[in-house]
Amino acid sequence: MTKAQNFINGKWVDGSLGKLDMLNPSYDRKAGEIARSGKEDVDAAVKAARAAFEGMWGKTSAEDRGRLLYKAAQVLLENVDELAELESKDTGKPLKQAKTDATLIARYFEFYAGAADKFHGDTIPFKDGYTVYTQRVPLGVTGHIIPWNYPLQMTGRTLAPALAAGNAVVFKPAEDACLAVVRAFELISELGFPAGTLNLVTGLGQEVGAALANHPGIDHMAFTGSPEVGIEIMKNSANHIRPVLLELGGKSPQVIFNDADLDAALPVVVNAIIQNAGQTCSAGSRLVIQEDIHDEFVDKLIERFKKIKVGPADSDPDIGPIINKKQLKRVEDFVKRAEEAGATILAQAEKPEGDGYFFPPTLMGRVNNDSYIAQNEVFGPVLAVIPFKDEADAIRIANDVEYGLIAAVWTKDNGRAHRVTNAIHAGQVYVNGYGAGGGVELPFGGMKKSGFGREKGFEALYDVTAVKTVVINHG
Ligand code: NAP
Ligand code: MG
Repeated sequence: MTKAQNFINGKWVDGSLGKLDMLNPSYDRKAGEIARSGKEDVDAAVKAARAAFEGMWGKTSAEDRGRLLYKAAQVLLENVDELAELESKDTGKPLKQAKTDATLIARYFEFYAGAADKFHGDTIPFKDGYTVYTQRVPLGVTGHIIPWNYPLQMTGRTLAPALAAGNAVVFKPAEDACLAVVRAFELISELGFPAGTLNLVTGLGQEVGAALANHPGIDHMAFTGSPEVGIEIMKNSANHIRPVLLELGGKSPQVIFNDADLDAALPVVVNAIIQNAGQTCSAGSRLVIQEDIHDEFVDKLIERFKKIKVGPADSDPDIGPIINKKQLKRVEDFVKRAEEAGATILAQAEKPEGDGYFFPPTLMGRVNNDSYIAQNEVFGPVLAVIPFKDEADAIRIANDVEYGLIAAVWTKDNGRAHRVTNAIHAGQVYVNGYGAGGGVELPFGGMKKSGFGREKGFEALYDVTAVKTVVINHG
């Protein structure tokens, strides 16, 4: 059992509002407990973080910060199996996928361990008699709120760069998926980070999440989740005049031209929509395909979709359940609404027996790009097929959504690959591949309503630091 406690100021402490049960979505039964926290806990965590930032942690050299992060990477790697099991039980991810995620949290700490002492300012040529340089300084206390779809990965993604840059952090994972994250904190908490450097507060979004988002003592808020809550986070941050990073999902297109290697595209297209039961911000949820290869490719997709194995996470299926009953209903309603609007279900996998929150992967044919299902994030394994005529049509459809997170272009024509890539408004564009998940080195984030700010790669360090310009008049 993981601790049903918060980690504040270097100590494990009870939540001020008691405890919450965690559910295993594969079986609709209890998976564990977490601390239920509120304003009081957030106050204590922010105070501890501020003291760490102004004290020991603020004085820790970049070299030593890197060393601590590297130790974290090692201890996480040593415990990959245990972390993966917890993550799988808590979120319903197939064990194999949870193992990838557990490895990736370690990889984030490893990458930013190496980056900590390689991120620096510039010298700037100025007038005679002056020396001018810039420093990249940490912002102070950073707040972090993540969703339930990739708890381990996102913990690494949001915390490791903030810590590498020298910030002290206050972190709230999602109520639906906390167990592996709490365990990761247990492992990291014993490595010698000064008290208050990392603080974990668990509980409900409306309680502890809102308290963190509203807290005046936070210098930067990083949020991944729904647009609705993202707007709240931004409004709260406006009240306190502080920067935010928002990652709010997508409706990402896979654009397939008639000269593409269809055999190479097929498994990638399928995986990009069923991975994590479609509960991925960067899911490839729109298949934008050229009319003259539509039937050939869709026939192959139908075959594949019918064979996808859905089941409890520990049975090693292709996909597990949806995270909770509310999200399951949301996905079901999306498909019902699409059918009512005239879309056809071309294929659906088999739904397993049992109490798990299962939704079978569903292929929706000849969807109009203006329709509700093509414009809104389903957050489930539902792929909308949208045919196009020519390159201009493909670009128009790819861009004709409010989101702009990632995209893929499949073609053997180099010129076309560059033209279409340049024309697509998205934070990441892949050519002849699709990169949901992974890619710790690759800057990631949205355009348009997918949000702003960048995570991953070296780029993430810019978001959690400020430039200080030092101008020395030495005559
Ligand atoms: P959500 O409510 O936006 O949850 C994201 C995080 O924000 C969770 O930690 C949540 O806590 C917290 N939160 C909720 N209300 C808050 C508030 N008032 N102040 C501060 N924090 C708050 O997302 P959801 O309801 O879990 O999922 C709904 C939809 O959001 C999905 O169907 C999907 O379309 C989208 N989504 C996108 C992503 C992504 O990766 N971009 C991830 C998840 C969901 P609790 O969960 O503990 O309440
Ligand atoms: Mg929620």
